[in-house]
Amino acid sequence: HELLAGQLAGAVVDARAYASERARAEALAELDRAKTTFFANVSHELRTPLTLLLGPISDALAESGTDLPPGVHDQLTMALRNGQRLQRLVNDLLEFVSIEAGRTAPVRVATDLAADTAELAGVLRAAAERAGLTLTVDCPPLGRPAAVDPRMWEKIVLNLVANAVKYTFVGSISVTLTAEDDEVVLRVSDTGVGVPAAELPALFDRFHRVVDSPARSREGTGLGLALVRELTELHGGTVAVESRPGVGSTFTVRLPFGEPDTDLPPPPSTAP
Ligand code: ADP
Repeated sequence: HELLAGQLAGAVVDARAYASERARAEALAELDRAKTTFFANVSHELRTPLTLLLGPISDALAESGTDLPPGVHDQLTMALRNGQRLQRLVNDLLEFVSIEAGRTAPVRVATDLAADTAELAGVLRAAAERAGLTLTVDCPPLGRPAAVDPRMWEKIVLNLVANAVKYTFVGSISVTLTAEDDEVVLRVSDTGVGVPAAELPALFDRFHRVVDSPARSREGTGLGLALVRELTELHGGTVAVESRPGVGSTFTVRLPFGEPDTDLPPPPSTAP
């Protein structure tokens, strides 16, 4: 009897612990949903007025350009730049929210990833050269198509290369794509400011920016790397970083070659 009573008491304790753990998990999930909805609503509400605000400013600058009094021209340019910054933040937030809500599952399309990657990295060549940096791109044919969501891959590559340009003051950036053990491996290396070891674990967290860095003056939202991680993980891949302050950083993305979800190219966007 005693043994049975003991077992029962143990089972009751287990059941209670289980119930309270479940209640806690449900409450947390509910909180997370509320937060996601809140972000989605706020971002949507911000997007329209921003577009309506920036359109006329950019038109005014384009049309009257140099005819404007110098002070007004400078102020409008500044307003446009900051408005566009806000627009990028809002778009990044919306992208996040839709990923978290599970609305953005990757649509994998079989692509020549080497050619696509070289083209994407090349988009930032002019920006790198303007900053006095050399950008080398080495993406030889992989020998087989890789199945990725092209829109997501574009975000991954552009975010990493744009960061390399942004956080490098002198030297070079290299972008390589290789096939290793049934995985596609993208490496973006730079000779930039680097990241202190203590900062590395949180580097891919949302809104995380390295505060004590020579690159503090660089504009940013701290969402780029978090987005890179989310998009990579949606493909069943991983992203890692090796870095030394004052020497440089290498970001490595590994994705399985994957199977296409469709043989057709992605449908044209229906967005207005
Ligand atoms: P953002 O660039 O908008 O701040 P990210 O999420 O892209 O946001 O990057 C987070 C932080 O990681 C940056 O603020 C910067 O401190 C650091 N970082 C990212 N890429 C590099 C890089 N290539 N070299 C040095 N630091 C970097």
